[in-house]
Amino acid sequence: MQEKKGIAILGSTGSIGTQALEVLAAYPDYFDLQVLTAGKNADLLIEQALKFQPNSVVITDESQYQKVKDALWAADIHVYAGQDALCQVVESTEVHTVLTALVGYAGLKPTIHAINAGKTIALANKETLVVAGELITNLAKEKAVNIYPVDSEHSAIFQCLVGEFHNPIEKIYLTASGGPFRGFTHEQLQSVTLEQALKHPNWSMGAKITIDSASLMNKGLEVIEAKWLFGLQPEQIDVIVHPQSIVHSLVQFEDGSMKAQMGLPDMKLPIQFALTYPARFQTDFPRFNFMDYPQLTFEQPDRKVFKNLDLAYQAMNAQGTAACALNAANEEAVAAFLDRKISFLEIGQLNEYCMQSIPNVLHPKYEDFVATDAQARAFVQAQLAK
Ligand code: NDP
Ligand code: MG
Repeated sequence: MQEKKGIAILGSTGSIGTQALEVLAAYPDYFDLQVLTAGKNADLLIEQALKFQPNSVVITDESQYQKVKDALWAADIHVYAGQDALCQVVESTEVHTVLTALVGYAGLKPTIHAINAGKTIALANKETLVVAGELITNLAKEKAVNIYPVDSEHSAIFQCLVGEFHNPIEKIYLTASGGPFRGFTHEQLQSVTLEQALKHPNWSMGAKITIDSASLMNKGLEVIEAKWLFGLQPEQIDVIVHPQSIVHSLVQFEDGSMKAQMGLPDMKLPIQFALTYPARFQTDFPRFNFMDYPQLTFEQPDRKVFKNLDLAYQAMNAQGTAACALNAANEEAVAAFLDRKISFLEIGQLNEYCMQSIPNVLHPKYEDFVATDAQARAFVQAQLAK
C-alpha cells in the first residue's frame, strides 16, 4: 500500500483550514493528518483534534494552553503554545506537506522553517509571498521544495500550466469578482458600512480577505503573489473583473493561445489539487451548468476609485521591502476598519501614506522584513492615534 501523505495545517480553525479538513476527511487512506494549529479558537481546535487525532496541535494564544492541554490529555495528543511552536511542529519528520492557511504576516516565519526542513508547501497564506517573495522563492529553489498554490486564481494558472512548463508565458490574467462595491463611485464608497463590506457576492472567506476583496487589495496582493509563483514581470500580469467568478484565471502563451480554468467557486477544489497534485481525485462537488450562467462577462477594474490595486503594482515595481510595508499597513488598517475605528476609504489612504513614508530597503534580508513590518505597523498606529 502507498504510504500516506503527512499533512500539517497551519490555521485549521479558519475558512481555508476547515475546508481543508473536509478534503482530508474524504480521503482517509491517502492523507495522514499530523498537525493542527489555531490562533485563539481553542474550542474548535479541541473539537478538530478529537475528531482527527493528529500527532500534535498548537494554540498560538498562550493563555488558552491549559484548556487545550486538559481537553486533549486523554487522547495522547501533544499540545504546544505560542508562535515559535508553529516553526517547530512543521519540521516533524512525519510531515510531508504544510498547508499554510493562517492569515497575514504571521505565516512568514513558519513557512521559512517548513521550507528549510524540505517540506512541500501548499500555500494559501499569500501574505508570505507578498512580504518576502524573493527570499521565499530563492529558498525553495535552494532546498528543492515545491510551492503549490491554493489561492483559486493561482491554482487556475498552475492548472493551465500543467504540461506547459517549458513554454514561456506571454501574459496572465487574474480574474476578480469586483467584490460587493463593484461599480461604486468614490462618493458612494464614503458611506459604505462594515456589514456591506463583509458581504462578498461569491465567496465565503475569513474577515481579513473579505475586506481585502472589497477594497481590491486582495487582487493587488494576488498580483504580487503571481509574480513570485510564476516568475513574471509586472507588465505580464493583468487583472480583469469577472463578476460571476467562474473563470478563475487565464494564461496567454507566446503563440497567442489562451487557456482558462473554470468551475463553480469552491475553495475545496484548489485546496485539494494542491494536496493531491499531480493527481485529480474524484469528488462530488456540485458541477457547473452552462444554463445557470448564460452570460460570462468581463470588465476593467476601476483603478482610480480602488487605489489599492495600483499601490500593489507600485510596490512590486519598487521591489525591496515596499510590498512588505504595504502589507503591514493594510493588515493594521483592515484591523482598524473591522474594529469600526476608520472608514472603508481610509484603508487605502493609510496604505498609500505608509508606503510613501517608510523607506524602501533594496536587496532585503529576513531582518529587513521584520524591521519594515514593525515600522509600518507603528506608522499606521501613530496615524490612528491622531
Ligand atoms: P481566517 O481568518 O478564516 O483563518 C485564519 C486562521 O489563522 C485561523 O485558524 C486563525 O486562528 C489563524 N490565525 C490568525 N492569526 C494568527 C496568528 N497571528 N498566528 C497564528 N494563527 C493565526 O482566514 P482564511 O482562512 O480566510 O485565510 C487564510 C489565508 O488564506 C489568508 O492568507 C488568505 O488570504 C488566504 N486565502 C483565503 C481564501 C478563502 O477562501 N478564505 C482564498 C484564497 C486565499 P483562530 O481563528 O483560531 O484565531
Ligand atoms: Mg484569490
